[in-house]
Amino acid sequence: MVDYNKFYKRLKKEKKQLTEKLEQLTADRHSLAGREGGPFGKREEGGNEAFELEKGLALEEKLRNTLTEIDCALEKYKAGTYGLCNACGRPIEIARLEARPQASLCLECKTTQAQNVKGAK
Ligand SMILES: [Zn+2]
Repeated sequence: MVDYNKFYKRLKKEKKQLTEKLEQLTADRHSLAGREGGPFGKREEGGNEAFELEKGLALEEKLRNTLTEIDCALEKYKAGTYGLCNACGRPIEIARLEARPQASLCLECKTTQAQNVKGAK
């Protein structure tokens, strides 16, 4: 029997950290946008700030995606299906969960999915 509880604890902790980081980012963005003249006020400075803003947004999106994955994993834990692959239902490799506790697919399905995505382009 695998002890999934440690992954659950890690996910909880990670969720808290990510939520705090996200709040910080959002606050930063608001203070940046709220500056006199707005982020696109002066040409030179504006360009730089727009870049910072964009970088922040990209990071924010990444954090949100990770949070969604973590939420899904926590839901699975509650449902008693944590650690099982969403696609084939087999247990996800422990080494994979160690590296990424929010993983929802086993390595095989993940690889297949990645290939499909690549093939679709
Ligand atoms: Zn699978």
